[in-house]
Amino acid sequence: MSLIQPQPVQRQLAMVLDLNKCLGCQTCTVACKNLWNRDEGTAYAYWNNVESMPGKGFPAKYWEIGGRDAHGQVKRGEIPDADTGYGRAWKFNHKKVYFKIATEAEAEKPWLRPEGQPQWGPNWDEDHGEGQYPQDNHQFYLPRLCNHCTHPACKDACPRNAIEKRAEDGIVLVNQDHCHGYRFCVEACPYKKVFFDPVRQVSTKCIFCLPRVEKGVAPACARQCPGRLRYVGYLNDENGPIWKLVHQWKVALPLHPEFGLEPNVFYIPPLSPHKLDSEGRPTNEMRIPPGYLESLFGPRVHTAMATLQAERERSKHGQASALMDILIAYDWNDNFHLDTGKSATVF
Ligand code: SF4
Ligand code: SF4
Ligand code: SF4
Repeated sequence: MSLIQPQPVQRQLAMVLDLNKCLGCQTCTVACKNLWNRDEGTAYAYWNNVESMPGKGFPAKYWEIGGRDAHGQVKRGEIPDADTGYGRAWKFNHKKVYFKIATEAEAEKPWLRPEGQPQWGPNWDEDHGEGQYPQDNHQFYLPRLCNHCTHPACKDACPRNAIEKRAEDGIVLVNQDHCHGYRFCVEACPYKKVFFDPVRQVSTKCIFCLPRVEKGVAPACARQCPGRLRYVGYLNDENGPIWKLVHQWKVALPLHPEFGLEPNVFYIPPLSPHKLDSEGRPTNEMRIPPGYLESLFGPRVHTAMATLQAERERSKHGQASALMDILIAYDWNDNFHLDTGKSATVF
């Protein structure tokens, strides 16, 4: 638990993602990148990305650097390396791939050109997972974005006060007019969700699609998600899906709660099929080890999974389940509970 007092906010915008439904299609990643983050200096950066877990994530093993110490103070942390941490943007020879090639020189260029000598990058270990087929192979997708933390380490680390947590909705923003590019925020965020733009010499991060949310339109990553697995609304809105999933059913949990930042992005943990024994018969053990899920979502993951399992069984046997009704997301409009009721607007 952090010892630093939270910023007082009138209400907190939050997101819940149901990991049982993520397809790993990266539509969210592309939606965000296309809409907000096409600067040359942040070609390597993804405000939203989707990782294959168990895996090393993006940037590689981000959880091992940054965060707070036992006294709640921001640790200095580290900036991931371009080749082994973030990876570099890869360039495509579109002329060769898609169009008639005009010159021989163009034809001789490779269709895909990585810069430098990258040894890691987003999706480097896509779909690898762990375990042995057919006994216990397992893998799931983990979409990640800024958590708009209640105790944002990025904000506390900035000597310029260039990072603000908005009082009206708890969204964490970088004021790029005040940012001097010191990168203390990049070092401090244990989720590594602030990205430095070396061309403009400023830090950049997810803005929770503020201009859309202010109009009652869902964030692009959530609205475009074909899996309907993202829910967006305010944490204290008892009529919305966020409050029900986080506080009422207690099945939505923050990633790495041990960092002490109190994230406002929550995850429904993934259930998995049972392992097989040496004869190929199902056992009672889940393929994704519960201990691994605990390392991501903390000890509350076990009761959350028990609740999910029990409600899933009710539903399977034809009994009503208010929880499954939310998670099935019959009508995508119900995933979003923003102010003006205009979230049905298609963007
Ligand atoms: Fe800041 Fe990182 Fe928390 Fe986002 S996830 S608010 S960048 S500390
Ligand atoms: Fe990108 Fe908006 Fe999603 Fe943030 S909320 S990751 S800015 S699409
Ligand atoms: Fe998963 Fe939805 Fe993103 Fe596709 S768009 S990767 S289903 S969160």
